[in-house]
Amino acid sequence: MQKLLPFLIFCICFNSFAQQEDLSLDYYLPQDVSYNEEIPKPQDIIGYIPGEWHVTHDLLLNYMRELARVSPRISIENRGVTYEGRPLILLTITSEENHDNLEEIRENHLALTQENASSLNTEEMPIVVNQGFSIHGNEASGSNAALLAAYYLAAAEGEEIEELMENTVILFDPSFNPDGLQRFSYWANTNKSENINPDPQDREYNEIWPGGRTNHYWFDMNRDWLPVQLPESQARIETFHKWMPNILTDHHEMGSNSSFFFQPGIPSRTHPLTPNINQDLTREIGTYHAEAFDELGSFYYTEENYDDFYYGKGSTFPDINGSIGILFEQGSSRGHAQETDNGVLTFPFTIRNQFTAALSTLEAAKNMRETILNYQRNFYKNARNSAENGAYVFGSEKDASSAYELAKILEKHKIEIHQIEEDFETDGKNFKKNSAYVVPKNQRQHRLVEAMFERRTEFQDSLFYDISAWTLPLAFNLDFAEDVKMNKAGKKIEDLQKPEIQSPEQSSYAYVMQWHDFYSPKALNMILEKGLRAKVGMQPFSLANREYDYGTILVPVQNQELDADEMHEFLQKVAEKSNVQIDAISTGLTQGVNLGSNQFRALKPAKVALIVGEGITPYDAGEIWHLFDQRYDMKITKLDTRRFSRADLSRYTDIILPNSGSSALKSKDLDKLKEWIRDGGTLIGYRNAAQLFEKEDFMELEIKKDSLVAEDISFEEQRDFRGAQGIGGAIFEANIDRSHPVNFGYTNDKLPLFRNTTIFVEADKQSYNNPIQYTEDPLLSGYISAPRLDSIAGTVPFKHKGMGRGNVILFTDNTNFRAFWFGTNKLLMNAIFFGDEM
Ligand SMILES: [Zn+2]
Repeated sequence: MQKLLPFLIFCICFNSFAQQEDLSLDYYLPQDVSYNEEIPKPQDIIGYIPGEWHVTHDLLLNYMRELARVSPRISIENRGVTYEGRPLILLTITSEENHDNLEEIRENHLALTQENASSLNTEEMPIVVNQGFSIHGNEASGSNAALLAAYYLAAAEGEEIEELMENTVILFDPSFNPDGLQRFSYWANTNKSENINPDPQDREYNEIWPGGRTNHYWFDMNRDWLPVQLPESQARIETFHKWMPNILTDHHEMGSNSSFFFQPGIPSRTHPLTPNINQDLTREIGTYHAEAFDELGSFYYTEENYDDFYYGKGSTFPDINGSIGILFEQGSSRGHAQETDNGVLTFPFTIRNQFTAALSTLEAAKNMRETILNYQRNFYKNARNSAENGAYVFGSEKDASSAYELAKILEKHKIEIHQIEEDFETDGKNFKKNSAYVVPKNQRQHRLVEAMFERRTEFQDSLFYDISAWTLPLAFNLDFAEDVKMNKAGKKIEDLQKPEIQSPEQSSYAYVMQWHDFYSPKALNMILEKGLRAKVGMQPFSLANREYDYGTILVPVQNQELDADEMHEFLQKVAEKSNVQIDAISTGLTQGVNLGSNQFRALKPAKVALIVGEGITPYDAGEIWHLFDQRYDMKITKLDTRRFSRADLSRYTDIILPNSGSSALKSKDLDKLKEWIRDGGTLIGYRNAAQLFEKEDFMELEIKKDSLVAEDISFEEQRDFRGAQGIGGAIFEANIDRSHPVNFGYTNDKLPLFRNTTIFVEADKQSYNNPIQYTEDPLLSGYISAPRLDSIAGTVPFKHKGMGRGNVILFTDNTNFRAFWFGTNKLLMNAIFFGDEM
């Protein structure tokens, strides 16, 4: 058998490679059915057979629109646009008759998840399948296969397709990531040769930074199904909750030497909130893929890697929603054809596999329809039965925006939230009407709520494909109580509104703004950009029974570019745009420091540059770009490592070095940076910058050395042993010194931090140099091995050091994680605006 294997592989690949010479639709499509001549083939619209070129998003769109125009089985809708303005379309594919009753079908289907669903008859009910392709733009075989799948569903004739159309509503999303797909298609097409060259070293197979995997701001959108911070995810999640599909498929690619993977993944790494039956059904659906691939002669595997733990992934999110998520991974040709361990892997071959998996999914859905519909109904029934009474409450007395932002996520997931009836205190935390929300436990989405709010520190497995914790109230650094009575709940919120603020009165003396609100940096930036003088208060003070905390911003009225009237008008606009309260005050005689005190330090406008390009982690850089551009409306210059040596750094007050490889910057670049710092610049480095800063003498650091020794670990266990010592993403608690400028705006003495590194920096001997320090028992949620937990205790994730007239600042943790870690974004903004005061 073993000797036969290479021969078989050779046959398959030779066959598929040869096909490209005279590629036709016959290579892909089932030949035992006829096709409606009225339906345009992909090549009629895009100009070539799928697989000859990488389809661009606009051509993909043209074809889908044309299908929707001519086929009574297909309708199309636009659900918004990407950051680059590309439409986020969705096809609904079902029989003409179902189309005529679509709203009724949808409502009946949704009723399965609601109370009193037991009387519904699932015998005649269509199953709803959501098929999505290429959420990673450079895993393009999915979206290219979507051309063929859509054609097949529109054009195939005969009993079998009629039966499928009658019994299925297909929500068909041909491109989960339009901007990334466009970026990658440009790369693969512009580097394609007439004589396709499968040499893996060819430029075609080696994209330049940042590649097409991500969206516009370089986010991995297959992590955003739960936090829903990006427009693409928002469209998907809206569709999901509008329809509650029974199966959701997510078509990806993996390394070129791999074959094809379909779920289930590794059983022990399934999230415990996911019912076992979910995995059983996934396994049964898998038999349909296996049969189809056996017939085709394509190799595949299952249950060996990938997992269903983090609910922010497309194939796992459905599992906490009574649905079944399925991940497909096809070995990637990453261009038009590439030499691999399995011979030459052609693009058409990868497309054909994806197309085949799309059809076997529908076959499974059709045959397992009733079982899966009943599973969904039971899921919600059981969820409701297991729900406790009572409610969660979250909020922030002084940072209403962060609480609002979390409430927005819940609203997007159709989770029932209430206002609070009146202000109250519990466990020493104050919940106020304008900034706290109640989430009843007994509600339809009870399991999803649990998955968002739970703190988990015990696990069946010690390996995770992605993060092991995402507890949202911690991510937003909110006050949180898990068990309040429902009588604390006020009106149910039907249409969530921004927190209310009062517009500032006019003052002829000064205006002040607390630094607590998430959006206060946006307001400060507007003020400084306008050329107004502003100061930051290094100490608290009070005035007219109002306490002003560390970091309060002071804007004097006199001696400014604007006169008192203009200033008032402008600050009203600032308050409105940022939704942050600004107070007018009429006297400098405050309790504590007075407004004329030297404890108010002058601020200068921030001119920030972000180092991007080869060697920098695109996600980390993109998160920062997004934070500035989308959240704070702040300009940020993206300085590419390629031309860093030629850049004029004197234009910037702050430069951010995101996580990077050790060779991202050359030694000449580092010298240049040091000179700029000595002249007054502030360099802010993240994560791996720790090693660089230490080695290149930017700051003195004591980084704990890795002293792990394997005992009784076999060769086979080696990988798992190493993996278990990593921190894939967990949440840790630090003590903070609120008087240090890096912590301005925080109101508690503790701060939850997200961490996905194993860089442990020893605390300084001088306690005032450790404004953020991990507690002795810091694990709040997620997985960390016992030795690593020992290592992290008492270490510091933040360091500051003066250099000449400037500053070097280090964060070993990612404070900007995936655009949903609102709770620590302020640390970066403090480094930017108050770095000189540290
Ligand atoms: Zn992928």
